[in-house]
Amino acid sequence: MKIGFIGLGNMGSPMATNLAKSGHDVQGFDLSAPVPEGVNGAASAAEAAQDADVVITMLPNGTILRTVAAEVLSVMRPGAVLCDCSTVDVDSARSVAEQARAAGMAALDAPVSGGVGGATAGTLTFMVGGPEAAFQTVAPLFEVMGQKAVHCGDAGAGQAAKICNNMILGVTMAVTCEAFALADKLGLDRARMFDVVSTSSGYSWSMNAYCPAPGVGPQSPADNDYKPGFAADLMLKDLRLSQQAAQSVNADTPMGARATALYAQFVETEDGSGRDFSALLPRFVGRARS
Ligand code: NAD
Repeated sequence: MKIGFIGLGNMGSPMATNLAKSGHDVQGFDLSAPVPEGVNGAASAAEAAQDADVVITMLPNGTILRTVAAEVLSVMRPGAVLCDCSTVDVDSARSVAEQARAAGMAALDAPVSGGVGGATAGTLTFMVGGPEAAFQTVAPLFEVMGQKAVHCGDAGAGQAAKICNNMILGVTMAVTCEAFALADKLGLDRARMFDVVSTSSGYSWSMNAYCPAPGVGPQSPADNDYKPGFAADLMLKDLRLSQQAAQSVNADTPMGARATALYAQFVETEDGSGRDFSALLPRFVGRARS
């Protein structure tokens, strides 16, 4: 396929590389990041998008997505698909889908889970919202870049799935970290705590697959001095998107709101920025009850 790829940052670069390696003709564009080997450099987003069967975007936020989408939709050929893999607000995803429909094209919101490791290994999970036919068009590309793609529903459903998942993740990581810190103070050995909880009703991905305690459970960023992994800043971004969405549909999300406030404090007024999101554990250990 002819693919336009816009946004060649930490995630976009390895995703575009994998598409090029699998034999697709990829035209890439980024405002500042270098074009990876195997990908042809375009002079603008519009140049990368014209003639493409599928245009993929991997951008920082919804405002930038809206700007780029307006630029590329004006030059994309009829029938082509705009597939946004960024994590953005549900409203931006729906607005871009509407712009695409009005211009005679289809758009998918297809945010990912799996991080830079998953992008590099081609093992991302895609959560996809938008028309079935467009999903089928892009499915072979999801197969190259990932191990699983779930068609979640209409426009915005992919972003909805992503922020609900990450709201659960933010809350479970926070409570797993505070439980370890409590266990420390109660004199409970961390390895014993892991043995019990990982096989009891407190288990979760945060405990079992990404244990925030160094030297306990599987290898995780805790074993690498909390270098990300998944940065606390990105968790804060996703939690804020969950609260923005909850506000827009009048949903009561007290735990999500609390996790958002906690990560905001950690990232913006403490030492959380640039650290893995599981670094809440040393934070709790160093604090008294407030
Ligand atoms: P990044 O900042 O490394 O990459 C974004 C790229 O977009 C940058 O290279 C930037 O120069 C480029 N860009 C910005 N405006 C542009 C424009 N107008 N035209 C062309 N390029 C432009 O970010 P990332 O880590 O690659 O994340 C991208 C998206 O994926 C975000 O929405 C993020 O929330 C999501 N995401 C990231 C991860 C992760 O672990 N990094 C995991 C899941 C989802």
